[in-house]
Amino acid sequence: MRAQRITEHGGPERLDWAEVEEPRPGDEALLVEVAAAGVNFIDTYHREGRYTVALPFIPGVEGSGTVLEVGARVADFAPGDRIAWCNAPGGYAERVAIPAARAVHVPDGVPDDLAAAVLLQGFTAHYLAFDTFPLTAGDTCLVHAGAGGVGLLLIQLATAAGARVHATTSTDEKAALAASAGAVAVHRYEGFADAIRQYEGKERPLDVVYDGVGATTFDEGLSLIRPRGLMALFGASSGPVPPFDLQGLNANGSLYVTRPSLGHYIATRRELDARARDVFGRIDAGTLDVRVGARFPLADAADAHRALEGRATTGKVLLLP
Ligand code: NDP
Repeated sequence: MRAQRITEHGGPERLDWAEVEEPRPGDEALLVEVAAAGVNFIDTYHREGRYTVALPFIPGVEGSGTVLEVGARVADFAPGDRIAWCNAPGGYAERVAIPAARAVHVPDGVPDDLAAAVLLQGFTAHYLAFDTFPLTAGDTCLVHAGAGGVGLLLIQLATAAGARVHATTSTDEKAALAASAGAVAVHRYEGFADAIRQYEGKERPLDVVYDGVGATTFDEGLSLIRPRGLMALFGASSGPVPPFDLQGLNANGSLYVTRPSLGHYIATRRELDARARDVFGRIDAGTLDVRVGARFPLADAADAHRALEGRATTGKVLLLP
């Protein structure tokens, strides 16, 4: 079979469309024919070596497809089942072996591409809005990169929870998408804090900032949070936030900062299934719109990485074998 393989860390050119050995599922795993593989920012960190992954490896942490074989100790899945998974490696391939513990059934009404598109970013938006800072009516929040994969979903879930959502984006086209997802106001990054202060008529109007951009937005975001509010720093698409003086949290109003990770919010079967039920249920009910902004042939994964890192994408980016 063919897969994207990385034998050396580096730029997108390190993605090598190669003939590789067929995976074999262990006793607690599923062999899956991949229908669609999701592209996530973390794939670029793995490719670059910013997050440690042993070489060589097949990138990708999310996808959907049809079960071909199940391991001897798998009870809840059978050949022919349509499944999706996240937080399991090796998805940039025609076939992959996935731990059954990472897989969920895909309901009939949800097509394969949407299932691959919503799991990782949808679960992330879901835990940020409902668990990291459980939003309620009357809360005001900021979502950076509001037209991105996580951003568009988080704006919708936050709005559904009754929050007022501000967003940032880099272009007018992206701003229109963030607004149509429910943001009350969309700002450019330059001077976003002043723009939000002016809009809200308060010095510190935000209950929570959801920041997946990191280096270029963190400090300014902190200055907007009301006393005892929360900075949820969940990513670093502009680069990691440098070491931070905790005394700044005192000076800014006894603030909280968290650096959450999806794995800790889907750690049990029960929590994974509950999130999947809720996210798929919202898609089925028509209350969560999943935007697939671009589809690339799996063979052209390097182009997908260039687009994502070059800020040329909106919503979800998929790879199709
Ligand atoms: P996005 O679709 O949001 O793409 C990244 C976006 O970041 C770009 O489109 C761009 O939007 C914005 N951006 C701002 N500055 C830069 C920059 N210097 N270079 C590149 N992009 C920039 O990606 P995802 O939805 O996949 O992920 C968003 C963030 O969430 C990432 O940091 C990712 O690592 C993190 N994440 C964290 C998880 C967790 O559990 N902690 C789980 C999933 C994702 P614009 O042009 O509008 O600025």
